[in-house]
Amino acid sequence: MANDTLKKCLFCGKPENKVRNMFSAGNNHICDECVLFCYDILEEQGGVAPRAKVTEKKKNKAADNGGITLKKPAEIKAVLDEYVIGQDDAKIALSVAVYNHYKRILTLEDDTDDVEIQKSNVLLLGPTGTGKTLLAQTLARLLNVPFAIADATTLTEAGYVGDDVENVLTRLIQAANYNVEEASHGIIYIDEIDKIARKSENTSITRDVSGEGVQQALLKIVEGTVSNVPPQGGRKHPHQEFIQIDTKNILFICGGAFDGLEAVIKKRTDSSSMGFGGKVKDKSSDYNILKKVVPHDLVKFGIVPELVGRLPVITVLDELDEPALCRILTEPKNSLIKQYTKLFEFDNIDFEVTPEALTEIAKVTIEQKTGARGLRAVVESILTKLMFDAPSDSSITGIKITAECVRDGAEPEIIRRQEKDVV
Ligand code: ADP
Repeated sequence: MANDTLKKCLFCGKPENKVRNMFSAGNNHICDECVLFCYDILEEQGGVAPRAKVTEKKKNKAADNGGITLKKPAEIKAVLDEYVIGQDDAKIALSVAVYNHYKRILTLEDDTDDVEIQKSNVLLLGPTGTGKTLLAQTLARLLNVPFAIADATTLTEAGYVGDDVENVLTRLIQAANYNVEEASHGIIYIDEIDKIARKSENTSITRDVSGEGVQQALLKIVEGTVSNVPPQGGRKHPHQEFIQIDTKNILFICGGAFDGLEAVIKKRTDSSSMGFGGKVKDKSSDYNILKKVVPHDLVKFGIVPELVGRLPVITVLDELDEPALCRILTEPKNSLIKQYTKLFEFDNIDFEVTPEALTEIAKVTIEQKTGARGLRAVVESILTKLMFDAPSDSSITGIKITAECVRDGAEPEIIRRQEKDVV
């Protein structure tokens, strides 16, 4: 950048490339050094309110705290919006939870603060393919705290075949490059939490290996414990060195489809459905019913009350309808259509999908009940043959997918170079 186009501090005249920070109001700028200078003068004159001093202290703490910068909820949501379509309730809940998590980390550092902010772990509830994992993955991308994703179905109680629950922590420590201090402030997403629900509400004397034991083990780390984790994951064995990590300040986000939860909620909300032969009055769709979930429904579903209690923020994801699926196909930064356009671009082929074809693809996917997860399979099935043939046919300049290709299995329209243009 030429020197005369650089912003200059109105006070000392330094250009922006010579200072750490430049604050602007319209065309007027002030550098960080001059701000601090003014601050010192104010302090000498006793004109700085004590609150301002604490804020300053916290900001400094933020700066030394592994470079954690506070991202405002709206900023977090704006990034989520780039990748995830719809799901505003979940985005807002997650943005606030993550923002508060940052604040919590910062206040923990401040020993003068006697109000301790408790963490509020989040439960994402919604049908498969609606963006739960995508939300978590996108968060991981934008956050500057360590983040790990684990699948509850692979977890078992210590001693059984599968991953020990502590391995979730190993993953977080690995994500933090073995910086245990940083990892102990990280965020863990546990997918498919509903799959470890115990099978009946009554606690049985015999242990339910598939569910409750894992939940209890998980509960311990969600609540906060000092856990010994094997540095490379895998099974614990004697003679092994362990890393100790305190899980008190790790934020947990759990996700699950909770198939069958609608029935539990229906039963609670519709008193006339009680008893044999009772009629179901509630005519609202299953999805609307899911929105009425209360923590006790989750207990009925088979999650132990203590674990439910540790997941105070429950948010329900929207079922994806036709317009949402069409937007998912085209709008996100790495949408399917953008990906295919790029793939064909390598072979100098223009790729087009008509709006009617997009709607048809959405319709087929809805029939398959796989959420947005099914979109790729539908598009792949139309394009696989073309992706095989087109690169070897230099006369092809364009491919157009029409509604008929999706509905009736018609061949995609192929645009070829005119004979005379072919070299
Ligand atoms: P689940 O809710 O089962 O965890 P995923 O997040 O794994 O679903 O979604 C599967 C795929 O579907 C994602 O990788 C993404 O491509 C797409 N997808 C799902 N929901 C959305 C959404 N709301 N916005 C954009 N893409 C989505």
